[in-house]
Amino acid sequence: MKEKLYTMELTDAVKAGDECLFCWLERKLEQENLEFVLGSSYMEGDIREETSIKGFCRHHTKMMYDYGNSLGNAWIMKSRLEYVNREWKKQMAQDMPGKKAGFFSRLGKSGDTKTQEAVSTAEAWIRLEEKHCYVCSRMKKIYGRMLDTFVYLLKAEPEFGRLLMESKGFCLPHFADILHVCYEKLKPEEQQVWIPKLRQLMETNLDRVQEDIDWMIEKYDYRNQDADWKQSRDALQRTMQKLVGSHPADPVFKCQK
Ligand SMILES: [Zn+2]
Ligand SMILES: [Zn+2]
Repeated sequence: MKEKLYTMELTDAVKAGDECLFCWLERKLEQENLEFVLGSSYMEGDIREETSIKGFCRHHTKMMYDYGNSLGNAWIMKSRLEYVNREWKKQMAQDMPGKKAGFFSRLGKSGDTKTQEAVSTAEAWIRLEEKHCYVCSRMKKIYGRMLDTFVYLLKAEPEFGRLLMESKGFCLPHFADILHVCYEKLKPEEQQVWIPKLRQLMETNLDRVQEDIDWMIEKYDYRNQDADWKQSRDALQRTMQKLVGSHPADPVFKCQK
């Protein structure tokens, strides 16, 4: 079976006017996944089994709490805790001083990733449990297909390319993914056309956001208090997004029912 292409989603995203069309897609995807997890899927045995084994990262656990549906959350967490309690007993029975436990990576004080050796098998197990998340893994799969769709549209749909060049481009992290997939999946002659265009799109929009945040600071000068805000009213959140991705000014995502 041919894998799904997300042409409609990508076309909506490129028209959305966001600082990054992939941030826009990611937000939509994340919200849809949260609705799925806390909709009624948790009452289905196979899904509950998967959420119990995979668990949730800190970011998505917080989003789940904020979303609401305390009873749904409680069911999911109850099963996850039962799984952890069962595993705990197995792991602790094996945990002995001096037993080789393997390596894990963590963020050091200076923000760089360090590889460290776990001091015990129990530590190694907990470190591993922290690494997987049901929502992250669902999103990752679809995100990969969205990147493939992006390349497909560049090749097949001139109209998409035109809309893209009129868009505000990408945030830095998503642009890295775009470069990666373009070098991986475009033919050399297609790369020669698209890579310079994409770089130019990024550069133009980084300059635009720079101007906006510069003017936002100027506006705080009393001499400029009557001057026009221009595009700078929301320059702070847009600069944050350009630099690291996501939408810092978003309200928490809550259950609408
Ligand atoms: Zn982005
Ligand atoms: Zn997650």
